[in-house]
Amino acid sequence: MINVAIDGPSGAGKSTISKMVAEKLGITYLDTGAMYRAVALYAYRKGIDVNDQERVVPLLDDVDISFELKDGQKIILLNGEDVSQAIREHYVSKLASDVSKIPQVRKFLVAMQRKIAETTDVVLDGRDITSYVLPNAKFKFYLTATAEERATRRYKELTAKGQEVDFDRILNDIIDRDYNDMNRDFAPLVQTQDSVYIDSTHLSIDEVAAIIIGTVTGATKA
Ligand code: C5P
Repeated sequence: MINVAIDGPSGAGKSTISKMVAEKLGITYLDTGAMYRAVALYAYRKGIDVNDQERVVPLLDDVDISFELKDGQKIILLNGEDVSQAIREHYVSKLASDVSKIPQVRKFLVAMQRKIAETTDVVLDGRDITSYVLPNAKFKFYLTATAEERATRRYKELTAKGQEVDFDRILNDIIDRDYNDMNRDFAPLVQTQDSVYIDSTHLSIDEVAAIIIGTVTGATKA
């Protein structure tokens, strides 16, 4: 199986680039962040504090996450409901980051991710793919950019959509999520030694995608 593992902090462009790479390689894309978001959304809708481990863990028995193609777009289903839009709401980002600290939540989702990677050629992006989910993946990348650059990109994206947003708040949210993701006890975000390090601060999306595709196709041809 071809497994392309991509980790990095929030807002580094992982999902846009992973999607492009998967499309160019003709393989599946698995957005593992969407899975954490779906669990967070489920707990939130049940009125449960995502930091309350004892109340969150039993919920996992009732959570069924799957992916489907709808009109050529990959959608995520939570117990059969399309939550692709709902999980992108700003408030869900922090909830996902908090719920992802719970080891049982991680183990639950990681088991699904490993199963998919065992049977499918796939590009997976997240925080722990290169270090914990698939440490033996043949292709591993760590994609990052400065916090200021990541906040600027997010700011432009939201203002282009007509949303009124405060730059400093976006920057602080990014710094907070970085801290959360890099400092949790179980499977934190780390840059593994065998990952190709890509700093995209001064690179375009196409340039980053080309580096990844070049590495994968170069090695598979050899
Ligand atoms: O990538 P995205 O921003 O959608 O992920 C939402 C949150 O889920 C992240 O801030 C991170 O805390 C968590 N996550 C994780 N491990 C992954 C993917 C996402 O902990 N593999």
